[in-house]
Amino acid sequence: MKIAEIHTHVLDHRLDTAFESATMRFDRRRHVLVEIVCDDGTTGWGECLGPAAPNAAVVAAYTPTLIGRDPLATEVLWQELYGLLRDQGQRGLTVTALSGIDVALWDIKGKHFGVPVSVLLGGRVRDGVRAYATGSFRRDGVDRIADNAAECAAHVAAGFHAVKIKIGFDPVQDLEVIAAVRDAIGPRTRLMIDANHGYDVQEAIRVGRAAEKYEIDWFEEPVVPEHLAAYRAVRAGQPIPIAGGETWHGRYGFKEPLETRCVDIAQPDLCGTGGFTEMRRIADMAALHGVRLVPHVWGTAVQIAASLQFMAALLPEPLRRESIDPILEFDRTDNPFRQAIVTTPIEHVNGVVRIPDGPGLGIEIDRAALARYAAKDV
Ligand SMILES: [Mg+2]
Repeated sequence: MKIAEIHTHVLDHRLDTAFESATMRFDRRRHVLVEIVCDDGTTGWGECLGPAAPNAAVVAAYTPTLIGRDPLATEVLWQELYGLLRDQGQRGLTVTALSGIDVALWDIKGKHFGVPVSVLLGGRVRDGVRAYATGSFRRDGVDRIADNAAECAAHVAAGFHAVKIKIGFDPVQDLEVIAAVRDAIGPRTRLMIDANHGYDVQEAIRVGRAAEKYEIDWFEEPVVPEHLAAYRAVRAGQPIPIAGGETWHGRYGFKEPLETRCVDIAQPDLCGTGGFTEMRRIADMAALHGVRLVPHVWGTAVQIAASLQFMAALLPEPLRRESIDPILEFDRTDNPFRQAIVTTPIEHVNGVVRIPDGPGLGIEIDRAALARYAAKDV
């Protein structure tokens, strides 16, 4: 079996209501899938986190190196592609594009051997995971406090045990949102806050101290990801556990944050940090440092399915009397690509998502949907 063709598919959907995090505005959803076709007809699917067209361009730059190669040689190919752009790469689009390729290669490997990727990774520890609801962005044209509170109450009614809300805009209003959401979801639902690095150190410390009484599970991306001393200052200066890592790439990207304890919870993104090949190493590093791992997930059904395969095989770490199961980040915003591009949608039942057990990623792509959502301008 040899790699014969590589295609990228840029998907595009215009949102009825735009929304924003502290640092990014969304008026469309845009994602890029990677399709790798082998000479025997076996096809694998991957996805790259981040801007779709630039990721597609980097995948195209890697393509000549991959044509005619053995798709099962995932470690060899990862090392070779990383080396190709190392001098100008190391992090960013060079690694996110490589991630999409690596995920597609593991999908092929699973299909070739007739087992889910989770079995290739060492075996399934679990067949389902509890999901937490990600949402509560700032939406255009509505009162943010009432809107976030109502949204989170609906997540609890739908069965979610935990919700994550967006802060990082204005510390005073953010604390009003946190108070209103805690009130709306009651005392038992777990609550996480995500600043998308919208604060500086002083603001983050002030919000963390004031938010402690609302029982927050974690405080995500309080400050910019490249400023690790700022992370350490925030972690030392306020009482809520710190989470981060969705923009740290590869084992080298996680080395210093883990060694110097910037976070209590590491959040690598499978489709951004280097695919299955690199994600396993990062999970091992996090376990070695006694840091919990909760993968970041943001994208289409391909990214969700890949993350689920990884979580199925994730060993319970840090070791304790009873295992702490990983939880799935489940985006609840307007995003048709979560469901529409696969023949069997990935859904939650009462806040629990079953992990597909078919070969590879365990999903089948609906090509008619890909055509329907294909971006017109790339
Ligand atoms: Mg985040």
